[in-house]
Amino acid sequence: MQAIFKDISEFIKKQFPEQKFIPLHAPVFIGNERKYVMDTLDSTFVSSVGAYVDRFEEMMCEITGSSYAVAIVNGTNALHLALLLADVNRNDEVLSQSLTFIATCNAISYIDAKPVFIDVDKDTLGLSPDALSKYLNQNAKIEADGFAYNIKTDRRIKACVPMHTFGFPCRIEEIAQICNNWNITLVEDAAESLGSYYEGKHTGLFGNIGVFSFNGNKTITSGGGGALITNNESLAKKAKHLTTQAKVPHPWAFTHDNIGYNYRMPNLNAALACAQLEQLAKFVDNKRELATLYHDKFKSLGINFCVELPGTRANYWLNAILLNDKTEREDFLTYMNSNGVMSRPVWELMHRLPMFENCERADLSNSEWIADRLVNIPSSVRL
Ligand SMILES: *Cc1c(COP(=O)(O)O)cnc(C)c1O
Repeated sequence: MQAIFKDISEFIKKQFPEQKFIPLHAPVFIGNERKYVMDTLDSTFVSSVGAYVDRFEEMMCEITGSSYAVAIVNGTNALHLALLLADVNRNDEVLSQSLTFIATCNAISYIDAKPVFIDVDKDTLGLSPDALSKYLNQNAKIEADGFAYNIKTDRRIKACVPMHTFGFPCRIEEIAQICNNWNITLVEDAAESLGSYYEGKHTGLFGNIGVFSFNGNKTITSGGGGALITNNESLAKKAKHLTTQAKVPHPWAFTHDNIGYNYRMPNLNAALACAQLEQLAKFVDNKRELATLYHDKFKSLGINFCVELPGTRANYWLNAILLNDKTEREDFLTYMNSNGVMSRPVWELMHRLPMFENCERADLSNSEWIADRLVNIPSSVRL
């Protein structure tokens, strides 16, 4: 195995020459970033109001094909807001994945709603429609009010939050159909999948609301930032209102008509986001080229490299391989990280964390199988 690991690390180093330690995902600023950020300083509009915020929202609509986009301070808060807009309340259940980044479950927990963990598909790494359907058929019923309730807990099953893992679109159309049948609101955690499409439609547009992140390690970054997209005008207006402390618009008076949040994205960050969005298509092409190189290499080595589902176009945010077992995974991680190539296992599964270990859950054997075997390898845009 050591000889193969050496071969892989040398191959990765060849893709990222002249780097001492190759990170998993580093941002790249080669466009109008400096110009736009300096603009905000010159204008003094660095905070929550400014032309770049509006432009960022317009660009998000153009890129995703969404009717509305709302800039938000980060992806986690965008998810929190999306769940509030989905009218998720205390003790409601929210169906999601155990194989996800902690932010998905934290957002559910901010409302004191209850995550329920459903398995993922091995080929998409995202929520499995078969597992979702099976769970609902065995554990839920539609009551007289027309809504879905968990038979065991009596709680309302209010929303479903699938996540497009590492930018690979999951079987989102099937999931949307199931949610529709059960009258469950669909919120997509598309934080990792900006620039990823399912059957030509951008991720985040299959349910009521889609959420994105522009954190420093994502495909493009605003330093810190998030966004929400929706085709529903009243949800978009409500989102804007709630992110602005629920302030009633008025030239001078300060009145608020709800408990609101300070969840706006500052203009300073939006300036960076605009410059980065201009390069999104180029970055995704660049990342897909790297994925092709990886694919060929790992194929020649007989190692399983994760690829997009037919009919989808992934942004290949983070490239991933699946090793034979946990021991091989540990050996791989040890070798790569001590030889200048950053490599990482997938997040600890949510149902194994102390905060979520007592949550309702379905069979999670695919999630557990993946967690033992998957590693992410360097995936930055190459200059
Ligand atoms: C990055 C990420 C988020 C939110 O991230 P922020 O760092 O708060 O912008 C949410 N969900 C997933 C799956 C993510 O990867």
